[in-house]
Amino acid sequence: MAKKQNSFSLNFDTDWNYSPAPESTSHVEIKEKYDLFIGGKFVKPKSGKYFDTINPATEKSLAKVAEANEKDVDSAVKSARKAFKPWSELPASERAKYIFRIARLIQERAREFAVIESLDGGKPIKESRDIDIPLAAAHFFYYAGWADKLEYAFPNRKIKPLGVAGQIIPWNFPLLMAAWKIAPALACGNTVVLKPAETTSLTALKLAELIADSDLPEGVVNIVTGAGKTGAAIVNHPDIDKIAFTGSTEVGKIIQRAIAGTNKKATLELGGKAANIIFEDAPIDQAVEGVINGIFFNQGHVCCAGSRLFIQESIKDEVEKKLKMRLETLRIGDPLDKNTDIGAINSKGQLETIEAYLEIGKQEGLTSFQPSYSLPKKGYYCKPTLFFDVSQSSRLSKEEIFGPVLAIQTFRTVDEVIEKANNTPYGLSAGVWTDKGSKAFNLSSQLKAGVVWANTFNKFDPASPFGGFKESGFGREGGMHGLEAYLSIK
Ligand code: ADP
Repeated sequence: MAKKQNSFSLNFDTDWNYSPAPESTSHVEIKEKYDLFIGGKFVKPKSGKYFDTINPATEKSLAKVAEANEKDVDSAVKSARKAFKPWSELPASERAKYIFRIARLIQERAREFAVIESLDGGKPIKESRDIDIPLAAAHFFYYAGWADKLEYAFPNRKIKPLGVAGQIIPWNFPLLMAAWKIAPALACGNTVVLKPAETTSLTALKLAELIADSDLPEGVVNIVTGAGKTGAAIVNHPDIDKIAFTGSTEVGKIIQRAIAGTNKKATLELGGKAANIIFEDAPIDQAVEGVINGIFFNQGHVCCAGSRLFIQESIKDEVEKKLKMRLETLRIGDPLDKNTDIGAINSKGQLETIEAYLEIGKQEGLTSFQPSYSLPKKGYYCKPTLFFDVSQSSRLSKEEIFGPVLAIQTFRTVDEVIEKANNTPYGLSAGVWTDKGSKAFNLSSQLKAGVVWANTFNKFDPASPFGGFKESGFGREGGMHGLEAYLSIK
C-alpha cells in the first residue's frame, strides 16, 4: 500500500497502515453512557457515579463515563486474580492467538477507533488514523509473536508471570498507551486492570467491547474508568502485583511513595524535556521539518517532545526564519479535518496550564513568535509558539509544558551543547541533526536520554524499547526489554 504522506507527515519508514473492509468500519458508535468492564462484562459502577467526557474541539459532552471507586476497583482486581491461574497456565501459543486476534480486530475497526480518538482527545485525524491506531495494532501483533518464545528471550532462566498488573495510562496517546501496557502483560501470562485517563476513556472502552468480542477469557483484561482517586485505588490495592504507570513525574513520585515497602513491582514512564540539537552541517530544511514534528506533533502533548531546541550559532538566523515561515503554514483547527496539522488541546485544564507558561515567558521578557492566523472560536486551542534566546534558568527550558511551545537556545561547541542538553532533571529522549555520523554517535552516547534520534524525531516501533533516565522514570516498554517488566526472572 502506498505510504500516506503530507507536509506534516511524521518520518515513519514502516507503514503500519492496513485497509479494513469498508463495511466493517462505516459506522462510528458512541453510547450515551459507559459502564465498567469487569469480568468480561460491562457492569454498573458501585459508586453510582458517572462523569462527562468532553470533545475538546467543541467543548460539548460526548458521553457519560462511570467513575470507579475502591469497591469497583476491588471487583476488577478480584476478577483479574480469578482469571490469572487459568490464563497463565494456558499454552503460550494459545495466549498468542488471543493477542493476535485483538490486533486483527483493531485493524478491522481502525477507522472507528481513529475517529473516536480524535473526537475525545482533540488530536488530528491524520495522526490517529496513520500513527496511533496502526501502531496500537502493531504492538499487539508484536507481543503476540513473543508469547510462545519467552524461553528463547531468556534462555536458561526460570520465568514466571507476575500476576495481576495495575496499569494507569495518560491522555496523550490513549489507545496506543493501552496497547503498550496490555499487549506485553498478556503475552507474559499476566492479567490486567487498566485505567485510562479521565479525559480520554472512550477508545479504551471501545477496546473493552472489542475484547469482549474477541472471546478473551473473562477477567483477563478489566478496564475501569475514573480520575486520580480511581488510579490511587489501583495503586494501593493489596492484591496488585505490578504497577505500570505513564503520566506526570508528580504522580509518578506519589506512586513510588505509595508502593514503597510493598512487594509491588513498578515501571514508570514519566515526563520529559527533550533537547533537539541542530548542527551547522545539518540538512537545514529537513531539520526544520523535524523540529516542527518534534514539538507540534499531537499539539506537543508528548512526553518525548523536542521541547528545547538548540541551534548552532552560525545558523541561528536561517533556522529561526524558516521555523517562523513554517509556523505560518501549519493548519490548526477541526481534529476531524484530514488536513489539520494541529488539533485541539486535550482539556480546559491543560489549556490553562499552557497559557500560564506563555504568560511566564512574557513576564521573563522573552521574545516570542506566533503565527498570524486566528484560532477557532469554540474549543480549546492554542497557537504554536516559539520563544527565542531562552536561558538555561528560564522556567520554559526547565519545566515540561506538554503543549505546542518551543524554547529555543543557541550553542557554539559540541561540549557546550552536551552540557546544556543534559542540564535537566529529565532524560527521556533527544534528537541530533547533523551530516556527520561520528557526531551523531558521539552525541547519542553522551546525551543522558533513553532514546536518541539522529536526523529524525518521534519515531516509534514496537520492537524498540522506550523509557527514561533520571526523573523521566525507570523500566522499559516495547521490544524484548518490555517483556522483562512483566516477568519474574530467576
Ligand atoms: P497529567 O498531569 O498529564 O494529566 P497525570 O499524571 O495526572 O498526568 O495522569 C496520568 C494518569 O494518572 C491518569 O490516568 C490519571 O487519572 C492518573 N492519576 C492521577 N493521579 C493519580 C494518583 N494519585 N494515583 C494514581 N493514578 C493517578
